[in-house]
This record gives sequence, structure tokens and C-alpha cells, in this order.
Amino acid sequence: MIIVMKPKTPAIEIQRISEEISCWNLIVEKSIGQHQVVIGLIGDTVELEPSRVQALSPFIEQVVRIEKAFKRVSREFRHGEPSTVSVTTPNGLVQFGEDCPVVQIAGPCSVESEGMIVATAEKIKQAGAKFLRGGAYKPRTSPYAFQGHGESALEFLAAARESTGLGIITEVMNVADLEKVAEVADIIQIGARNMHNYSLLKRAGSQSKPILLKRGMCATIKEWLLAAEYIVAAGNSNVILCERGVRSFDSQYTRNILDLSVIPVLRTLTHLPIAIDPSHGTGSAEYVPAMAKAAIAAGADSLMIEVHPNPAQALSDGPQSLKPEQYQELMAAMTRVSQAVGDRTRLTPQPAVLTTV
Ligand code: PEP
Ligand code: MN
Repeated sequence: MIIVMKPKTPAIEIQRISEEISCWNLIVEKSIGQHQVVIGLIGDTVELEPSRVQALSPFIEQVVRIEKAFKRVSREFRHGEPSTVSVTTPNGLVQFGEDCPVVQIAGPCSVESEGMIVATAEKIKQAGAKFLRGGAYKPRTSPYAFQGHGESALEFLAAARESTGLGIITEVMNVADLEKVAEVADIIQIGARNMHNYSLLKRAGSQSKPILLKRGMCATIKEWLLAAEYIVAAGNSNVILCERGVRSFDSQYTRNILDLSVIPVLRTLTHLPIAIDPSHGTGSAEYVPAMAKAAIAAGADSLMIEVHPNPAQALSDGPQSLKPEQYQELMAAMTRVSQAVGDRTRLTPQPAVLTTV
């Protein structure tokens, strides 16, 4: 249940109402929107009559029961206002959200060496990316495939952060590694295979680093939102949803089906920011630009794209990785799409020439 306060309600009145409700054995969560404050009531509200809540104060505009299974991540929970995930990187504040410029994330599937990750970071930074992605711990289908360099790769990521000032996004695969990963990552990725790992989701919710939560490869939108709800319910409201394609009957030509319809659908269901990963979504570098541009046109808040200095030699996901020059070109094309759909504020034009490092 949420209480929507009238605009300009005095803070002291919001405080009084919150205290009163806390005595009813409910947890109170306040979100401050652009125009209004919304008070969320967490706990068993089944028996609670909205009229009893309404009677608490003449400053209450509306009391709304949230009927959906997911509560805190639902659009209603913030009375329709989008949320913003703010991250302070060495280069400055970067914000993910519907009202913010599109945030570009790029980098290799796996961190292969310090030299490689630092060089890639420099190139994607020149192209306009704000975050470097790269896996230290890799969830691979085969136990014989490259599993990532683990802790040493975290150090390489720290070196790339230090030398470029880019924010770092890297995946955590289990609870035991969470603290180590959080020391280096500005945003922690929970991958498709772990979207259903509820103990990991709870632990990710009990620490403060933002989470990029990928959609499970066979997860429904509702299951995905409920996974996000686990993180938010455990205390961390900084969650970004990332679509990376779902399994279908036809994997002959693409690795997954990139479900871009989630963009308008999630907009109606949740206030959380939406990222799109066309690299895992298609599995082929050739198809990435078209889907990246489509994602921008459809209103994605962030794009995550795999970029490798030498895709043919990559230890994982080479076939879907762009070369830095291709990424640079794609960034310029995404800017044009953004401008063409009339949303000029959402991408800042990128420098035209990529210098070689
Ligand atoms: C990745 O981002 O490299 C990755 C393994 O992604 P996913 O969990 O979407 O497969
Ligand atoms: Mn990958």
C-alpha cells in the first residue's frame, strides 16, 4: 500500500504519519518525487482499510493498494515516477534513469590481462562510454571453458579504473565473493544464470553497491521483477534491469531472442532503469549495431556492449564482440538515432576520431 501526500505537505506532518504507521507493525519507506512524497507501507496490509489510513491526515491525497506481486519495484510504488540510480565514478557522477542521458557500458566478456583491460578501457572511454565491463568470475556452460582469472582480474579492473576514471561493472557469481567484488566494482552484475539465486539476491540487497540484474535466460518479466524485489526488499533500492535475450526454439542464427518489447512493458510495470545487452542478445557482432540502435529508439536507459581489442583471440564471447573502431562507429550511429527519435538530451555526441593507443 502507498500513501500519496499532497504537494507541499510539511515535512513534520510526513514524519508524524510515518511514526503513527510504524506503531501498526508496518515498515515505512518514504520516496521523494519531483512534486510529491510517497510513503510506502511494507508488511501485512491485507486487513488494513485504506479509509483508516486516509483518516490520518488532511494532507493525504490518495491511498493506493498495490495489487501486484512485486511491490517496491512496481511503478505504483513511486506513484508513476521513475527512479534514478546514481553512481559516483572517478570521472564524476553518472545517473541511470528515464530522465537521464543514456549510459554507455562497454568492455570485453572476460578480463584477460592487465594490459588488455587497460587498453580496452582507454578506447571505450574515447568512444564515450562511462563504464567498463569485464568478467573476473565467468559463468561458463562448460567446466573446461575459461573460467575467468578471478581475484587477479579484479586487480586488473582496479588498474583500469585508476588509469581511465571509468566506473567498473563486473559479475559476482556467489555470496562468498561478494565483498571482494564490491571493493572494485562500482556496479555489481548478477548474471542471467544467477537471477534465480535467492540467497545471492538477498546478500546483494544487504550491501550498498548498485546491482545490474540481468534477466534469466528463461525468466518471465514477472520472475525478473520479483528477483529485483528480493534485492530492494533486502535494503538496496539501486537496481538496474538488464535484458540480454531469452531462449527460444530457434537458436540457429542468433544465440538468444533479444526481447526489446521489455522496454515499453517495463516502463508501465516498474520505476527501475532499463539496460539492454545486444551482445548476448544476438551472439553475433554483425547483428549488434542494429539491435543497439533499435534499443536506443525504443527508449533504453543504458546499453551494455561487448568490445574486445582482438575478438578473434578472445577467451570468451569473441564472435559477439565488437572491435573498438566498430564500437566507435556504433556510438556515433546511436547518437544519430537518439536525435532522430527526438530525444536529444539522451545521448551526448561523441568525438569523431578514435586515436590509436
Ligand atoms: C556477461 O555479461 O558476460 C554474461 C555472462 O552475461 P549473461 O549473464 O547475460 O549470460
Ligand atoms: Mn559475455
